[in-house]
Amino acid sequence: MPPQIPGLDIPVVWSEDCLRHEPGGEVWLGVREQGTEVPERAGVILAAVRAAGAPVLPAVPHGDEVLSAVHDDALIGHLRTVWAEWEARGYVSEHGRDRVVPYVFPTAGMLAGLPARSPAATHGRLGLYCYDTMTLIGPGSWEAIRAAVDTALTAADLVAAGAAAAYALCRPPGHHAGPAAYGGSCYLNNAAAAAQALRRAGAERVAIIDIDAHHGNGTQAIFYDRADVYYGSLHVDPGAGWFPHYAGYAGERGSGAGDGANRNLPLAPGTGDAGWLAAVDVLCAEAAGRGVDALVVSLGLDAAQADPESPLRVTSAGYRAAGERLGRLGPVALIQEGGYDLPSLGGLTVAALAGVMAGAAE
Ligand SMILES: [Zn+2]
Repeated sequence: MPPQIPGLDIPVVWSEDCLRHEPGGEVWLGVREQGTEVPERAGVILAAVRAAGAPVLPAVPHGDEVLSAVHDDALIGHLRTVWAEWEARGYVSEHGRDRVVPYVFPTAGMLAGLPARSPAATHGRLGLYCYDTMTLIGPGSWEAIRAAVDTALTAADLVAAGAAAAYALCRPPGHHAGPAAYGGSCYLNNAAAAAQALRRAGAERVAIIDIDAHHGNGTQAIFYDRADVYYGSLHVDPGAGWFPHYAGYAGERGSGAGDGANRNLPLAPGTGDAGWLAAVDVLCAEAAGRGVDALVVSLGLDAAQADPESPLRVTSAGYRAAGERLGRLGPVALIQEGGYDLPSLGGLTVAALAGVMAGAAE
């Protein structure tokens, strides 16, 4: 092993299995494109945090107890088995379909009050669990999906055991995965699992702050009626034409016991550092006002200037400054979400994590 350079002092949790998911592109507006959620993303981040001196720890396998508290078992079971079923039923060998992609969705409009049945045909059942055409499943996907959860849970364990901060370098990302459905290149919700694990470990008030460029509709849905886990997100305005289009609006404030524990700050395209950091400040202040025993950060680097997936134009200095603010809030498990500009992704991650450690040391 090469000697580690003293520097970035945050434990990085990692599993090689996160590389096994090769979505093979995405079907966007009817055309299969190359896609941007590629294994190389994790590779460039890993190289950058190693070069910055961060210790890299293996993810520890966990059981499904925490996962089952944030997702329906039917979704977990579907993700675990669908690829094997797809292969066994000849979709690859006989029909040339090399990835699992849904084509019909039981929307409220289609069902018009009828119950959502579970059709016998595999290809007819996919839309029960997946809400878009961009989130493909292939060989190795499940192993990576589950390893990503273990990575997040291991980071949460480190924080529960007293670490000021820990970073889960997980892939695929998770914040678009809801209680019972996946989409948006996300399958299981790694950040939600980390938050649930911190609750189980004794943190009474957990806050999730999501700085990915897109709204974490899955995380919002999982905790929408709960008061014990605050969810705050800043993201490009879904009403301005950006994924996830149907959620992430300012009026969504939680329901029932969770009324007021959900906060969305949609931002205009081109917002830049000043407006973006002002929104980070609003979420940090609101979370602090409610009390934070432990913090989970959905760390998306896709608000960055060069990122192809958003127009928010945040700089590396902006990410460092956000990290400082989040690091001051308390013990924090950082969970990797989006970030797609391969040349700048590693440096952005290191900048954010260095900011977190600087803030935590204050
Ligand atoms: Zn994103």
